[in-house]
Amino acid sequence: MDAFSLSPPQWTENSVHSTGFHCPHCGLNPAKAKAAWLNRRAPVTGNDGRRKWQEFYLCECDKAWWAWSDDRPPTNLRKIEE
Ligand SMILES: [Zn+2]
Repeated sequence: MDAFSLSPPQWTENSVHSTGFHCPHCGLNPAKAKAAWLNRRAPVTGNDGRRKWQEFYLCECDKAWWAWSDDRPPTNLRKIEE
């Protein structure tokens, strides 16, 4: 799975928005997700002027969810960004 591929994986189609940056179905941390995809082609500018984008995760419970990149806790998932 390429988190930076240009076209969204099929599992992102049924994703739901999570405001807490964890799976809204089972609460699992995104570090344990089976797959991730970052929608970096379509960033938006937030209220603070920083760009953000949608991050999609396919959870171990087979539910897909997404959250804004600036909602991610700073200590979480650094490895994906670098
Ligand atoms: Zn889950």
